[in-house]
Amino acid sequence: MKQPEIPISPSKYIKRYLKRCITGPISLLMGLSVTLRYFFNPKRIITEQYPENKKTLKMHPRYRGCLELIEDENDENLCTACGLCEKACPNASINILKTKNIAGKKVLGQYLFHLGSCTQCGLCIEACPFGAIRMNQEFELSSESVDSFDLILNKKEGRG
Ligand code: SF4
Ligand code: SF4
Repeated sequence: MKQPEIPISPSKYIKRYLKRCITGPISLLMGLSVTLRYFFNPKRIITEQYPENKKTLKMHPRYRGCLELIEDENDENLCTACGLCEKACPNASINILKTKNIAGKKVLGQYLFHLGSCTQCGLCIEACPFGAIRMNQEFELSSESVDSFDLILNKKEGRG
């Protein structure tokens, strides 16, 4: 229900009007001072000119993009297929498919990662005892195809 308007006295109205006449220009000048500060000192501008700076743009070190396997100098990944990251993931975004190597030892067959359901929480990384996974700095991860969010992270079998 609409509340009835409380009438204000003319003196209160004038006081309120004068207050606004003073605070309004002050607020405007404060805003303009920020604009002028950056205008005369453009080096202080931190706004990213995306997509013009796409090639040189570096994300913040703590930014979490897409999960990836860490590889050594021989392009071998460090994953032992222990499955702890899979268990730690709260929304089943990881599937570890195991296989056996020539010596009959259990190794990583395929590391399946579902980017579409990943929330970049980082629990899988914390759970990995071998430091085998990390979040990369990729930021253009959108796609029109849902299938492109299902990724196989390993190029080779994991270590035994
Ligand atoms: S970052 Fe979180 S949601 Fe994504 S795969 Fe790891 S545990 Fe799962
Ligand atoms: S990434 Fe780490 S936690 Fe996940 S299966 Fe491989 S070794 Fe285990």
